[in-house]
Amino acid sequence: MRLWHGRFTLGQGIENTTVNILKGIIWTKRLFLLSVFIYFAFSCFAYDIELYSEQVSWQFEQLFNLVFCSLNYRNKEDLSRDMKVLIQRLSKTKPFNEVVERIRVYYINLSREEENTILKRTQGFPPLKVRQDFLDGISAYLKSNYKLIIIDASGFSSCAELSSIDKTSLIILGRRRYKNEHSFARGFLHELGHSLGLRDECVNCQELCPAGPPNCAPTKEEAKRWWGKLVGSVPRVHYIRGCCGDKDYIRPTIASLMNDPDKAEDFGPVNERYLKNILEGLSKK
Ligand SMILES: [Zn+2]
Repeated sequence: MRLWHGRFTLGQGIENTTVNILKGIIWTKRLFLLSVFIYFAFSCFAYDIELYSEQVSWQFEQLFNLVFCSLNYRNKEDLSRDMKVLIQRLSKTKPFNEVVERIRVYYINLSREEENTILKRTQGFPPLKVRQDFLDGISAYLKSNYKLIIIDASGFSSCAELSSIDKTSLIILGRRRYKNEHSFARGFLHELGHSLGLRDECVNCQELCPAGPPNCAPTKEEAKRWWGKLVGSVPRVHYIRGCCGDKDYIRPTIASLMNDPDKAEDFGPVNERYLKNILEGLSKK
């Protein structure tokens, strides 16, 4: 009896232990699957993304997200030096300097292998293609739209989608195109302007874009409506001939970052008013 009992106890013990181990395995598996689910559901981004800005204020529901991503950089130091140049220039440029607490900056560290699979160089325009799941992953991580700025250390061409503040869009900066840091920073501001809806104000532009608000009017009548009271009350704002590659269109100032960035310090009053309105409008949404 005792033995049997003992056997029974022993047998039950083994059975219980086995059941417990099996239960443990099942629960470990469940917990693992749950953590995988939580990881993908709530972070949704498999790459190394880090917050760069420190001055950001979390009191605003909507922020202007800039996400930097490097390509072909030899080391992290070169990238952080370049990013510092761009961020410092941005935070000193009107009207971004007035809304720095609404600008959130991130950067993504990609390994060389990741760069090769996510960013593909093309022969056409734009010069790079970005994998859609990478873009979607950033959206899911930020839970917001953003501007993705790819700095290509070995690239020569820069461009940006003509877009708006409420849309995710892409900016490509070919680092080798710029002869120095000033030129690089101004080139970035020019492309950022496009991504927020500003048109080219040059006459001899290579890439023609259609005339449109706020800074390239097809006629003087439209320019009068768009510039409004700024003409006459603010220095530099007039009806200047030529923008978007057409000498008959009208632009607001002789020089601007949206014209030749190397020959301008700022966006000019019409563009600054437009940018301030859209950046401040973020918090009202
Ligand atoms: Zn341009």
